[in-house]
Amino acid sequence: MVEAAYRHHGLDVRYINCEVPPDRLGDAVRGARAMGWIGFHCSLPHKVSVIAHLDGLGESAALMGAVNCAVRRGDQLIGENTDGKGFLKSLRQAIDPRGKRVVLFGAGGAARAIAVELALAGATEITVVNRDRARGALLVDLLNSRTSAAAALVEWNNTIAIPDGVDIVVNATSIGLSPDFAGRLDVDPATLRPGMVVADVIPNPPRTGFIRDAEARGCVAIDGLGMLVNQGVVGIKYWTGVDVDASVMRRTVEAIFSD
Ligand code: NDP
Repeated sequence: MVEAAYRHHGLDVRYINCEVPPDRLGDAVRGARAMGWIGFHCSLPHKVSVIAHLDGLGESAALMGAVNCAVRRGDQLIGENTDGKGFLKSLRQAIDPRGKRVVLFGAGGAARAIAVELALAGATEITVVNRDRARGALLVDLLNSRTSAAAALVEWNNTIAIPDGVDIVVNATSIGLSPDFAGRLDVDPATLRPGMVVADVIPNPPRTGFIRDAEARGCVAIDGLGMLVNQGVVGIKYWTGVDVDASVMRRTVEAIFSD
């Protein structure tokens, strides 16, 4: 997906995948510096531990305490988190979250990234719905103590009705991720109202059960491919300064997932 964008824009850059064991992470980051890399993505299990090897953090990465994208700025390697930024870029094609009320399902890494960016973008109310109460409470406390959004927790132990007045509903759990094609959120579909914006983080398959329910109810649905593609767009902008064409990346990743 990233190299398709590089080719399309004639950028003389390569994107290579490296498997780095946890005990060699420091060596890997020193190697990246020594080789003059313009940056790198990092995935689980390195998103938190990589911070010790970087020179600083962007605002949202500092709030989340997790980095998925390192960026060379001058002599420094700065940690950013582009997952939430990619989500926001995708969401903004449908709605500006400023002043909006959000219901967010999940409290893991993706949910934290999304919640922090929504709060920084001016969402006023964020209700976190999570099965594990302690994990949900950690995210709610973070939002209430470090951002201007008002956050509340709902423990997810029965069918959830989306309250009146909610503008944006987000699935940030792993429900529906391949091969869990039949997975469905325990939400009363009758409370998904026409015009509501409903977003899913699941990129594969993009048309999850939740997205299909939302479309059937007349909601504006945003699939997880938008987040995946746009976190790539944000990362490439950080690394190269170039705004790449998201549609080239989307077509590439769609072709990969349809194989
Ligand atoms: P985590 O393991 O950190 O969190 C998983 C979350 O899903 C937790 O809140 C967990 O609840 C909840 N969950 C899982 N299964 C169930 C279930 N059966 N019922 C209720 N809740 C459930 O994962 P991540 O946050 O890192 O990733 C979540 C999803 O986001 C993944 O599927 C991943 O593919 C997707 N993702 C998509 C991206 C994109 O670019 N589109 C980027 C990053 C992630 P609990 O705390 O109760 O266990």
